[in-house]
Amino acid sequence: MLTQIGQTVTCWNCGKSPEEVHFCSHCESLQPPTTDYFEYFGLPRKLQIDLGALEQSFYRLSRRLHPDVYFRRPERERQLAVDATAWLNDAYRTLKDPVARGEYLLDLYGMKKSEQKSSNVPPELLEEVFDLNMALEEIRTGDDSVRPQLIEAKAKFENLLEEVDHSLEAGFGEWDRTESRDALEKIYSVLNRRNYIRNLLRDVNAELV
Ligand SMILES: [Zn+2]
Repeated sequence: MLTQIGQTVTCWNCGKSPEEVHFCSHCESLQPPTTDYFEYFGLPRKLQIDLGALEQSFYRLSRRLHPDVYFRRPERERQLAVDATAWLNDAYRTLKDPVARGEYLLDLYGMKKSEQKSSNVPPELLEEVFDLNMALEEIRTGDDSVRPQLIEAKAKFENLLEEVDHSLEAGFGEWDRTESRDALEKIYSVLNRRNYIRNLLRDVNAELV
């Protein structure tokens, strides 16, 4: 839905420039979303966001897009309201969650979340991950003696996850101050690390239940 950024947007109904994000300033018809999520909610492109303002904006827009409002409007506009509501819900879910918000911002700058690869193992965890995978193998083949090791690993990775979340918060702060490529790259690597640790935890938890 970001395809129209940087292009001239015209109102689907009257053909003029809508001059406003949500409704045409000439004919008042609903416009399809053509901005990024931040702009649609009237928020700056920052990562430490005011969740209260986000929520208020979400509820206000939800009411304005509600299908009942378009009951007597042309079919095209009714469909636009349905589509925009779905889009709005995605946007809200994304911006509300810090991790999804960070990934979304990276995406806006062409930095796609990388696929989980074994080569992504954070170097300082290499040995740990090797041992852990061995232990996971063993418990899967019925050797319960490695259980204490897995419980220890679980606690360790939970702590690491907390540390990573602090780093993420710091990266968000840096982006908000500098809007630099450096900050984006920091966030990118923190998110990869987070993703990696979260997957390890998931594997460990699956064996401990
Ligand atoms: Zn118009």
